[in-house]
Amino acid sequence: MEKRIYNFSAGPAVLPEEVLLEAQKDFYSYKGQGLSVMEMSHRSKTYDNIIKEAEADLRKLLDIGDNYSVLFLQGGATLQFSMVPLNIMQSKADYIVTGSWSKKAVKEAKRVGTVNIAASTESENFIRIPKQEELKLDPEASYVHFTSNNTIFGTQFHNEPEVGNVPLVCDTSSDMLHKKIDINKYALIYAGAQKNMGPSGSTLVIVRKDLLERSSDDLHTYLNYKIHAEKESLYNTPPTFSVYIMGLVFKWLLNMGGLDKMYERNLAKANVLYDYMDSTDGFYKGTAAKEDRSLMNVTFRLPNEDLEKKLIAEATEKGFIGLKGHRSVGGLRASIYNAFPSKGVDDLVEFMKDFKAKN
Ligand SMILES: *Cc1c(COP(=O)(O)O)cnc(C)c1O
Repeated sequence: MEKRIYNFSAGPAVLPEEVLLEAQKDFYSYKGQGLSVMEMSHRSKTYDNIIKEAEADLRKLLDIGDNYSVLFLQGGATLQFSMVPLNIMQSKADYIVTGSWSKKAVKEAKRVGTVNIAASTESENFIRIPKQEELKLDPEASYVHFTSNNTIFGTQFHNEPEVGNVPLVCDTSSDMLHKKIDINKYALIYAGAQKNMGPSGSTLVIVRKDLLERSSDDLHTYLNYKIHAEKESLYNTPPTFSVYIMGLVFKWLLNMGGLDKMYERNLAKANVLYDYMDSTDGFYKGTAAKEDRSLMNVTFRLPNEDLEKKLIAEATEKGFIGLKGHRSVGGLRASIYNAFPSKGVDDLVEFMKDFKAKN
């Protein structure tokens, strides 16, 4: 088999090898049926099984009850920045702003109604998550929106904000399924697949059914959650291949022992990297506040930009790719999602030790 490299890309990101091999086995002719999933009608019995099984496995992983609809849509998390307010904002909503993605969500929500910024850490360059007591929440808000993991800044909510009876909405694009969450705390969750769940093309939306009553019949059809829920994600052609791969990832997670096991693994993986960084007297300096550090995107800096460039170049040569930080913030970022192997983190740390010794 060809050698795989260590892919630290923030997204599209690494997929489990087992999933890739399984898909490869069935790529040319799915389960001996003489055609690939990509060529199959989304109305066929075979495809219906694929999408239904993906949904059932996701429901198992997160204990999602019948009072929630699961939707597989297109348009990325970005379209959800618009669809969320279009469907469920009645006049005003609260947004917790913790990074570039939250800001983009706010931008679209403002086109629909009044946005109250419940808190923002922008003046501190988003290095931390606001504390509960900093949130200025409006009990009359249609919902509270937050971004669970800030892919670019490397911060993460380790607990949900407490919002009383106001529906809680979350963009979980970069940490969906990294641990077991209590789905009942949420009214709506959305996530693009391509970071922690599958290939690009599919966007997952989990929405509590009572919220569907808010979707107006005047909405354009594709933008209406209620229609997608009624049609079980088959109002139009869903991203068929992407959903198929997500389904394989869900099975992989179940086989690994579920989300509590995955969380243990993620914690251990992230700690190896953070502990090493913290032991280097600031040579490798984490950019996020310690208590808010992300388990998915580890952001750090070196003493100067020349060294950062040098490290990235040498790392790339050695088969560690995607370590360059987001263009808006610079520095380095190691994205270590569910599918990223522990050995890759160990090997990166060895490489970083070696680089430090030489520089
Ligand atoms: C990547 C990302 C997005 C944008 O996702 P698209 O699927 O490209 O629209 C939104 N939110 C978060 C937290 C992200 O990491």
